[in-house]
Amino acid sequence: MYTLTNSHGVEVRVMNYGGIILSIRVPDRNGQLADIVLGHETLEGYIPNPPYLGAIVGRYANRIANGSFTLDGKTYTLPKNDGPNTLHGGLDRAFNKVVWDAEPLKDKTGVTFSYLSKDGEEGFPGNLKVKVTYTLTDANALVLDYEATTDKATPINVSQHSYFNLAGEGNGDILNHEVMLNADRFTPVDKNLIPTGELRPVKGTPLDFTASTRVGARIDDNYDQLTLAHGYDHNWIINRKADDKGLVLAARVYEPTTGRVLEVSTTQPAVQFYTGNFLDGTVTGKQGHVYKRRYGLCLETQHYPDSPNHPDFPTTILKPGETFRSKTVFKFSTK
Ligand code: BGC
Repeated sequence: MYTLTNSHGVEVRVMNYGGIILSIRVPDRNGQLADIVLGHETLEGYIPNPPYLGAIVGRYANRIANGSFTLDGKTYTLPKNDGPNTLHGGLDRAFNKVVWDAEPLKDKTGVTFSYLSKDGEEGFPGNLKVKVTYTLTDANALVLDYEATTDKATPINVSQHSYFNLAGEGNGDILNHEVMLNADRFTPVDKNLIPTGELRPVKGTPLDFTASTRVGARIDDNYDQLTLAHGYDHNWIINRKADDKGLVLAARVYEPTTGRVLEVSTTQPAVQFYTGNFLDGTVTGKQGHVYKRRYGLCLETQHYPDSPNHPDFPTTILKPGETFRSKTVFKFSTK
């Protein structure tokens, strides 16, 4: 376990099992610190970890339809762990379930986790060397740098699955959080939560978060996409200029009672905004807190779900000789 701290009293704890973020302690508008991510106090709590609390997810975050894709004329079969789909990289050796090598940064502001995902592991081709570096800055930003190389072409989509509750973990649901998503379009899903291929404008739908809106305002509206996903559990396409590969603001979250603000910036093309609809009170986390429906929200920066089966989506294929890089920043402040 590694503890990152800065001069403002912000503290982030991470561990080499699953690259999991164990806790993030940040001040509210009165300087009161609270832990704002769902999780457990012991390693055992994370084995298993069905909601993927705090974990790095991969080799392919989100869903691959029918546990199958074809690459360079060859069809690959993956373990199915979500009805007919593969979710978050598969079963026993998905990135959230393996022990990563860890190396603290020399200046102690962060730690690099590395993992070699072997050729054929969870059905994916190629030995994939993957690295995730967590850095805590003095500007209260937790920076995530991802890097990967492979010796055979493979899909890759890595993300971070923390559940935030800016009022403090275990402190009720997130329906009063106000969310802005910098996205004019999303990828609608079918009944298995697989993208249909359509890129739908959010305008005029309850998925329009272009202006900051209370999560609970429309979450139970009678709208096909909300009914299918039991709330928000969709991939929003982040607005960016065609040739811009830099960091852009993807999301801003504000919690009115504490004043805590989370801003998420990323180099990734999309973000899965998931409102913890499948939390059902069966997981008891820190301090005996029971995590009920919608007690946390995830902002999983990523490529579009099921991209290996959608040639018209931005490609997720990494080839030998190339280096995959992405960056996501979680910035904490108050208002
Ligand atoms: C998915 C949810 C899923 C959850 C697993 C999210 O990324 O979008 O549908 O239930 O992960 O905890």
